[in-house]
Amino acid sequence: MEAPSKSSDGGKNALLRALPSIEQLLRRPSLEARLAGVSRARAVAALRLAVEHVRRRLLSGDPRPFEDSDVDEALRRLATPNLRPVLNATGVVLHTNLGRAPLAPEAVARVAAVARGYSNLEYDLDEGERGSRYAPVVDLLTELTGAEDALVVNNCAGAVLLVLAALASGRECVVSRGELVEIGGGFRVPDVMRQSGARLVEVGTTNRTRRADYASALTPETGLLLKVHRSNFAIVGFTEEVSVAELAEVGRARQVPVFQDLGSGALVPLEGEGLTSEPTVRMAVADGADVVAFSGDKLLGGPQAGIIVGREALLARIKSHPLTRALRVDKMTVAALEATLELYRDGRPEAVPTWRLLSQRPEALRARADRLLGLLASQGLQVRVASVSGQVGGGAMPLARLPSFACILKVEEPDVFLERLRGAEVPVIGRIADGEVLLDVRCLAEEELGQVAEAVIGTTRQGSRP
Ligand SMILES: *Cc1c(COP(=O)(O)O)cnc(C)c1O
Repeated sequence: MEAPSKSSDGGKNALLRALPSIEQLLRRPSLEARLAGVSRARAVAALRLAVEHVRRRLLSGDPRPFEDSDVDEALRRLATPNLRPVLNATGVVLHTNLGRAPLAPEAVARVAAVARGYSNLEYDLDEGERGSRYAPVVDLLTELTGAEDALVVNNCAGAVLLVLAALASGRECVVSRGELVEIGGGFRVPDVMRQSGARLVEVGTTNRTRRADYASALTPETGLLLKVHRSNFAIVGFTEEVSVAELAEVGRARQVPVFQDLGSGALVPLEGEGLTSEPTVRMAVADGADVVAFSGDKLLGGPQAGIIVGREALLARIKSHPLTRALRVDKMTVAALEATLELYRDGRPEAVPTWRLLSQRPEALRARADRLLGLLASQGLQVRVASVSGQVGGGAMPLARLPSFACILKVEEPDVFLERLRGAEVPVIGRIADGEVLLDVRCLAEEELGQVAEAVIGTTRQGSRP
């Protein structure tokens, strides 16, 4: 590309034209040592990356020409996966941007075992014929929820779309105006309803919906009564809503099934300071919901999945809908989910990281923050421990404020500091509060404190460089 002006580019165009070709670089003797033991294809990829980097540098006005050391940075970038582990110092347990629920070691091991080779994912070993990919988790799910049958799809958003399409397409679906919510990421109940082919019938008002509102909305066209759990916000004050149990009575009288989108869907009651109460899936089923959908990677603490449980006849209709195939889960999901559900069945919810992270005692968090402080203070950093308030995240328990502890760093430019922490070998994700850098220890394992300290100390050194 020709620059419009020939005179005032400060020699930029000449520098750009002087950029070496990949062929020239491959033959450059001074690069031989750096590229020794690197395959030709990888060397080409690294050199392309390096030249592109220098091109951008020149275009941005930095006149440094290509240097052999630019290849080091390119090789380092090639060796760093784009998707990789980070250390979560935000205090948000189910952080959607950070991969939501961390898996239990048992689940990770099961994924590795199944992913490595072949498995009986859709093969019935007793009969020697085709089986169902949901079979490994159906018994666990029905046992843990009290439901008759179960199905697993890609995520809860998909599960909601599928249930609406299978049970209410071309028919009416009745929902309270207080539950026409946006879950996040643009997932809005009215939009999903439209996509499913169901016709939305709104009843009640934003703050108050009564049993009679539902009852009078029922027509021969009604396919479904929908209840959406308000998982990421709350309505307080002059409010009234109809419980699942009451809704089930309304539905049963007219033979209209009740579908509850539970969102977070805890399997056991969670205990921990600051947590609000959350209906379990078993409670929803016992209260009479005919179909319940919930996430695998929210409070359950398993892999990303949308779990549907409920009455056998309804599940049969859902399973035979074409969307079920489009939304199906892979073997790694089934493996991780089975292993996670086993922990609940065996009465070991504390072995599920999400459960454990949420139920930590404040004293334990304080002690961990003190240990991180010790690692940092010995380096002469301006740091103190303070009590802070964290969140569950993932659109669960919006009102819960989890009492936690954090190391608070006083630094010149907090946003630059956080950016550098993200650039550490293992990126550390912190947050800013009142102009200070805050590292909440709730989601940091004891053995990760050293890495966090290393990243902070490295970042501080960078900062003091001229
Ligand atoms: C989070 C949530 C969903 C979406 O779940 P994903 O597993 O993230 O797809 C749907 N409904 C409710 C009520 C939720 O809270």
